[in-house]
Amino acid sequence: MSAPDRSTALASARALLEEWAEEGVERSAGAAPVPAAAEPPAPSVPAAPGARDGAQRAPVGPPVTQTDLLDPTPALTATTLDAVRAELGECTRCRLHEGRTRIVFGDGNPDADLMFVGEGPGAEEDRQGLPFVGRAGELLTAMIEKGLELRRGDVYICNIVKCRPPGNRTPLADEAATCRPFLDGQIAAVRPRVIVALGKPAASLLLGRDVAITRMRGHWQDYRGIPLMPTLHPAYVLRQYTEENRRNVWNDLKAALERARSGD
Ligand code: SF4
Repeated sequence: MSAPDRSTALASARALLEEWAEEGVERSAGAAPVPAAAEPPAPSVPAAPGARDGAQRAPVGPPVTQTDLLDPTPALTATTLDAVRAELGECTRCRLHEGRTRIVFGDGNPDADLMFVGEGPGAEEDRQGLPFVGRAGELLTAMIEKGLELRRGDVYICNIVKCRPPGNRTPLADEAATCRPFLDGQIAAVRPRVIVALGKPAASLLLGRDVAITRMRGHWQDYRGIPLMPTLHPAYVLRQYTEENRRNVWNDLKAALERARSGD
């Protein structure tokens, strides 16, 4: 490679790394790109082999291909949260079951107007079996209770994957795809008026495309007829604790609550 070519390649790599850093994705050299939207399996719960609390993400496995980013949109079986949980059982459908202490299914009001979807359980969530109860969860809870003046129990909170990824890494595409029918089932059961997607992986999975969260946050999207507000993950806000990030998330949550209340 000539010197000018090397220089151009280095500049491109630097720009890409800066973009990942901007989106709260921390990776080492050789690690996979962001696992984002994953191809969902068949409508019924599939078989497969087999947070985020501000912690450093570990490098992850194979790169996600464009195929992984397609969204064939599996049919939903509208049911109750209890039925979805019963179907989940003591799930071993993906490799994440190997390191978990508890399945972290979801928490909150089964008839909530507002539903928060994050990425996956962290260490404290894994210990307690509840979503968003670590440092990032404390921030989310404060925003819900002190900011929006709701009780945490008024909303419903869950994650893309129900088992803690090792080292708090981002869920891989196949893990997200395997767990997705349960997330779809939860959304179908709760039927929220508004979904708030917390961070890039959740927004990407739900929207079926790779999302640049810092650019998309604050802009209304649609998840199967349900308004979806993408915003920054609380763990990212903790890492980048700037007034701008806090204000942006606050504005996103206010907009989500207003829309949920207006019933539009
Ligand atoms: Fe099952 Fe989901 Fe846990 Fe994987 S992450 S083992 S699919 S519950």
